[in-house]
Amino acid sequence: MAKKTVSHIVNVIGGGLAGSEAAYQLIRRGIRVKLYEMRPLVETGAHRTQLLSELVCSNSMGSNLPDRASGLLKEELRAMNSYILDSAYKYRVPAGQALAVDRDAFSREITRFIKTHTMVEYINEEVTKIPEDEISVIATGPLTSPTFVKTLISTFGAETLSFFDAIAPLLKADSVDMTKAFKANRYDDENGGGDYINCPLSKVEYQNFVQELLKAEKIPLPAFEKDAKKMFFSACQPVEEIAASGLDSLRFGPMKPTGLTDPVEQRRPYAIVQLRQDNLLGSLFNMVGFQTNLKFSEQKRVFSMIPALANAEFIRYGQMHRNIFLQSPLILNEFMQVKKHPNIFIGGQITGVEGYCESTGTGLLAGLNVSRLLLDKPMISPPPESILGALIKYITFPGHKHFTPMNANFGLFDTSAESGKLMRSVTAVEDEKGEKSNVVKNSKADRKAIIVAIARKAFREFMSKI
Ligand SMILES: Cc1cc2nc3c(=O)[nH]c(=O)nc-3n(C[C@H](O)[C@H](O)[C@H](O)COP(=O)(O)OP(=O)(O)OC[C@H]3O[C@@H](n4cnc5c(N)ncnc54)[C@H](O)[C@@H]3O)c2cc1C
Repeated sequence: MAKKTVSHIVNVIGGGLAGSEAAYQLIRRGIRVKLYEMRPLVETGAHRTQLLSELVCSNSMGSNLPDRASGLLKEELRAMNSYILDSAYKYRVPAGQALAVDRDAFSREITRFIKTHTMVEYINEEVTKIPEDEISVIATGPLTSPTFVKTLISTFGAETLSFFDAIAPLLKADSVDMTKAFKANRYDDENGGGDYINCPLSKVEYQNFVQELLKAEKIPLPAFEKDAKKMFFSACQPVEEIAASGLDSLRFGPMKPTGLTDPVEQRRPYAIVQLRQDNLLGSLFNMVGFQTNLKFSEQKRVFSMIPALANAEFIRYGQMHRNIFLQSPLILNEFMQVKKHPNIFIGGQITGVEGYCESTGTGLLAGLNVSRLLLDKPMISPPPESILGALIKYITFPGHKHFTPMNANFGLFDTSAESGKLMRSVTAVEDEKGEKSNVVKNSKADRKAIIVAIARKAFREFMSKI
């Protein structure tokens, strides 16, 4: 770590989880920071306090179990000296296997530390322009102020910004019952190699499905999101809203079976749910047009009525909320640096990651790389075998057809047999356990253990080099 103070001052815009973490990574390396936070002068609608690093909703930062993607991410962030994670463990409250915190104590401590630090100038104002000829970390989050949104648009282009996060459920491809589904092109009128998984429903199945969909419990929208709903919902109506407009609405909307022939029945299905590949590996598929605001338990109950999805494993449930995020694959490199504006780094949820720890992780990497740039060290990014590296790879991969926000999950890893990673991982498991075991053909739990072992090994190697 640098002992001397570097003459540059770095602007950190936004004092949320990502901004606070980025600031910490800079000051611990001797770099001065100007931290800008607009609250309470300008409110976001979701934050309740004037504190830095406020947890806007749940006080849980997710699973702490080392065999969960979220637990693994915590492990990696702690290895990288995450201040946010350290503070979270310091103010931990009992919550079983999850890392839950006393939200006020947690945010108060971070606020006190940042605001009183001699290397930090705390500026309580809304940033409206990106300071030119200075180095900045943008970490204004999913509720970035409208004026600054305009600046982002003029700097990066309108096509790089998304405003509303209407997420359809994401599920594991190998949990789809392919005896009750078939592959085909979108409406059989496009070029393609039968990329979509089609889940047919008979008339009775469709009618029962719609009936239960209409009865299902929704997540109530907070007042500030009701306003956003007026602005953005027309483009991404939740399925339950479409269903409410008439029994056949879904059958002529996202469930239309146009151009498709069920190979078993040899006729057009009455209705269809299409699944679209969501990651390069083909291990995750999303439900096309199935944005929803139903409670998660209700999504599981109702969507399992689709015959091919009776035992579907959902990696992420559908959600609707205001979420300003950048199309990072168009603008960011793996160092969290803007390709066309090398003085600008970006971290947090606005990069298209999702979740408290994910936002913290990208903020950490942005701060770390700014410091390395100023200290004349090569910038770094964790390997894609690690969970943070896999997430960074996801948000910077230029080949997405539809880039949507993502949390840390094991579906981000390349675990295909063809990649040879599972074979190589036998050695990795030996490293971890100190014993030899042929786990490649074994259970799901073993596969998870292998993935975790590969990730840990790759991350240790990465850390040993920095
Ligand atoms: C309503 C809501 C609920 C969420 N609930 C959860 C949850 O329960 N669990 C979970 O894991 N994730 C949740 N998330 C997602 C995400 O983890 C959080 O939004 C997280 O706080 C993101 O961290 P961040 O640092 O990127 O942004 P934030 O924590 O939002 O920090 C951004 C900061 O920038 C400030 N700011 C914005 N514009 C400007 C400007 N122009 N000038 C100066 N300051 C500015 C804001 O006031 C804010 O303090 C939620 C998101 C939303 C929107």
